[in-house]
Amino acid sequence: NVSAGLVGMPNVGKSTTFNIMCNMSVPAENFPFCTIEPSEARVEVPDPQFKDLCSRFKPKSEVPAWLKVHDIAGLVKGAATGEGLGNAFLSHIAATDAIFHIIRTFEETADGDVAAHVEGEVDPIRDLEIIANELLQKDLALVKKTIEPLAKEVSRDGKAKEKKDRLETMKKIEAHLEEGKQVRFGDWPGKELDVLNDLHLLTAKTSLYLVNMSEKDYIRKKNKWLPKLKAWFDEHRPGEKMIPYSASLEAKLMEMDEQAKTAFCEENKCKSMMDSIVVSGYHALQLIHFYTCGPDEVKCWTIRDGWKAPQAAGTIHTDFERGFIKAEVYSYADLKEYGSEQAVRDAGKYRMEGKNYEVKDGDIIFFKFNV
Ligand code: GDP
Repeated sequence: NVSAGLVGMPNVGKSTTFNIMCNMSVPAENFPFCTIEPSEARVEVPDPQFKDLCSRFKPKSEVPAWLKVHDIAGLVKGAATGEGLGNAFLSHIAATDAIFHIIRTFEETADGDVAAHVEGEVDPIRDLEIIANELLQKDLALVKKTIEPLAKEVSRDGKAKEKKDRLETMKKIEAHLEEGKQVRFGDWPGKELDVLNDLHLLTAKTSLYLVNMSEKDYIRKKNKWLPKLKAWFDEHRPGEKMIPYSASLEAKLMEMDEQAKTAFCEENKCKSMMDSIVVSGYHALQLIHFYTCGPDEVKCWTIRDGWKAPQAAGTIHTDFERGFIKAEVYSYADLKEYGSEQAVRDAGKYRMEGKNYEVKDGDIIFFKFNV
């Protein structure tokens, strides 16, 4: 199960954003045997293909894809050394696959309060640097803690080649962090990457940045920080995505009915960014969808890009993976082109695939298995 953590300094609009995400959640009845923590939202991933499949199959039940988002409270300066319960919260981030960083560019809060940024003045670049540094310090502490016993083992048994290599990689990671560099911007060939992946470091995680603006600035698409942020990103976070939005505007839009929302957006020439925030998070994690479709249920499943058919079947039920026989597969694109499952069959596009088949984004699959 993949998840993203929502992080930010206090008073940047994190709760507002998290509440909107809760509102976009897949209904709890879809998760009958599990407790959903108050700090987690299972956000529906907007997917036009899924909507189209539901309108074609008219199933009794519709289950869209979702992304788990954890609200990670209270990152402040010094969190890595235990300031403000920081250490516990940083451990929560370790359990997620990606990080959404919320940064504040609005001066006055939506309720008219001029204030209250913990660090005084509003300065999103300082915030980015504080958070990056906390994550980095936490990684560094973990790396040092891992190196110590490993170094002892290696000095006891100089012939332990594998441990020696591992130690060397760990030291390389330590040096990289000590230079103040996030590990995801390092160059880690083959074996080193395996060591790195085992560590689940915070600065290794896919990161997306939500730039929270005042409603007014978001609508006029202007804020004094935007050019500075762009320059900072080009230099320090090449290739990472910054998404401007306004949490308080999103909260307002959420309260409106469709008609009022459309009218508001047309009048102000703006749009909600929440769907694209969720979709970007999903894609950043290199996830793909496949569907199971029938009169009872149309369901969208999330897997990692590159997974083989049995592994994909295992997301439905572990028995499906164990007893996998074959997958009957056609693509959403073919369904759209030919119009019906029967027409897809008639066109010879309905395929039988074996255990080595790599599932593609948009596949519609019917698994055959032994129990
Ligand atoms: P958190 O401490 O990061 O969880 O922040 P909150 O969501 O509680 O928001 C802190 C304050 O900022 C509240 O007074 C919000 O009304 C305000 N706020 C949140 N998002 C926006 C926004 O997009 N624009 C403006 N102007 N104020 C916002």
